[in-house]
Amino acid sequence: MDRLWAPWRIGYVANADKEETCFLCTAANDDPANDRERFVVRRGEHCFAILNRYPYNNGHVMIAPYAHKADLPDLTGDEQREMMSMLIEIQAALKAAFYPHGFNVGINLGSAAGAGVPGHMHVHILPRWTGDTNFVSTVADTKVISQSLDEAWLALTQHFEGTTDSA
Ligand SMILES: [Zn+2]
Repeated sequence: MDRLWAPWRIGYVANADKEETCFLCTAANDDPANDRERFVVRRGEHCFAILNRYPYNNGHVMIAPYAHKADLPDLTGDEQREMMSMLIEIQAALKAAFYPHGFNVGINLGSAAGAGVPGHMHVHILPRWTGDTNFVSTVADTKVISQSLDEAWLALTQHFEGTTDSA
């Protein structure tokens, strides 16, 4: 993947080691009434989808099981299936909301592979636009990022039918 310049991620990198609670578990276990402020865009039966607070690009979503599980072989069949169906659903919503030219989809397993939350596996889906390495010059501060996160949350959640059962 082409490297995107994302200076706001410095805050994340600096704080990652200090984090004692898993933010994915915190979001998963929170009241769905708080989904907008936590940037949870989708809840299924076994998995959920959340906007990355330190995005590499606009519309950067992570899909994770509710359960705190590190590796792919730990997932149940239901979690595997719903993770894939939710990934497909999120891609469709990202297309409808943002008209990207392409996507990166990936999973980093383990700290050595670059996982920011190595204990709680998640699939990244990242919309890409031709020339999007210029995107950051327009959103280079954290205030603009949180505003764009809220806009992305609104844009994406409009493209789902119902609030549960993503399978
Ligand atoms: Zn967790």
